[in-house]
Amino acid sequence: MKIKNVTCHVISSAVEAPFTSSRGWLYKRRGTCLVEIETSDGIIGWGECYGPPAVAKAFIDTQLSSHIIGRDPFDVEVIWEFLYNRIKDYGQSGMAIAAISGIDIALWDIIGKACGKPIHKLLGGAFRTEVDAYATGLYFTNTDRLIAEAVEEAQGYVQDGFKAIKMKIGLGSIEHDYERVAAVREAVGPSIRLMVDANHCFSVPTAIRLGRKLEQLNIEWFEEPISPEDIDGYVEVTRALDMAVAGGENGFTRWGFRDTITRKAMDIVQPDVCAAGGLTESKKIATLASAHGVECVPHAWGSAVGLAATIHFLAALPDQPPSLFPFQPMLEFEQCENPFRDHLACEPITQVNGKVRIPDGAGLGIEIDRSVIEKYRDA
Ligand code: CA
Repeated sequence: MKIKNVTCHVISSAVEAPFTSSRGWLYKRRGTCLVEIETSDGIIGWGECYGPPAVAKAFIDTQLSSHIIGRDPFDVEVIWEFLYNRIKDYGQSGMAIAAISGIDIALWDIIGKACGKPIHKLLGGAFRTEVDAYATGLYFTNTDRLIAEAVEEAQGYVQDGFKAIKMKIGLGSIEHDYERVAAVREAVGPSIRLMVDANHCFSVPTAIRLGRKLEQLNIEWFEEPISPEDIDGYVEVTRALDMAVAGGENGFTRWGFRDTITRKAMDIVQPDVCAAGGLTESKKIATLASAHGVECVPHAWGSAVGLAATIHFLAALPDQPPSLFPFQPMLEFEQCENPFRDHLACEPITQVNGKVRIPDGAGLGIEIDRSVIEKYRDA
């Protein structure tokens, strides 16, 4: 079996109610680059790249795809190393690695379909049949009623069955952030697991001051308190706070995560399988983390393809640490408007009582609805 064709599909859709985070830019569209790889045997594999979809497509079309045509898709490690070494003089991180990620996921999908096995079996087996999912949301939509909208949205997730919620923070005032998180905690009650995500908008002292206040509200982790480049700063924040500090959605490859993990600059690293180097590389990052007593809880922000890949990756992560009543790694199930998460798979990935079943079909275990690609096609 040989790789015959590599096709990138750039798709996007307008968001009805644009939202923002501490970054300040408005999310007006959701879009992604899907990677379709066809083999000489007629097997089709799907992958997804995180980040600006047109850039991922350009990278794959001009730098990567010609180097994998004619290769055996089972040589997924060999292909990964080849592609990385081919582009590392100008692409050790960022979109270059996101592009490799999309190819890598598609190859795993092909291998699974060729063997008739789900990807988690290929990764060594599933530690669980379903994953605990947390709702990511509580962005900023209406700045006149930031607290009310957060409370209403959180209550909606609880009604939907979620047992864990991650909310955005970063309102430019420690008191205002605390007030909003406190209102959500009050509304959802003490038994819902609650996380906060600052999208790296704070300085080290502000993150520590806010973190100490938020700890009173039983917050499970503080995500991206400060800028991802500042590993020394992460060491400071992580040592200063009792609650876990998380980050890494903008990290790439085992080398990109190495210093963060070996210095225990965060308690939890969050590689995104569609960005950090695909399933092949995310496994290595998770192993590196495990060896240093750092948890790995992947980031996810994509279509049904990226979500399915993330679920297989999670399925194959051991409990951290193993115990009678373990804290299992949770699935980030973002809940903002996104037709590609909801409609791209013929049978959508859904949660019931805060749990998502791990797909057991071959490969990613999802079937792609091509009419959705055609409907939202940009390129
Ligand atoms: Ca985040």
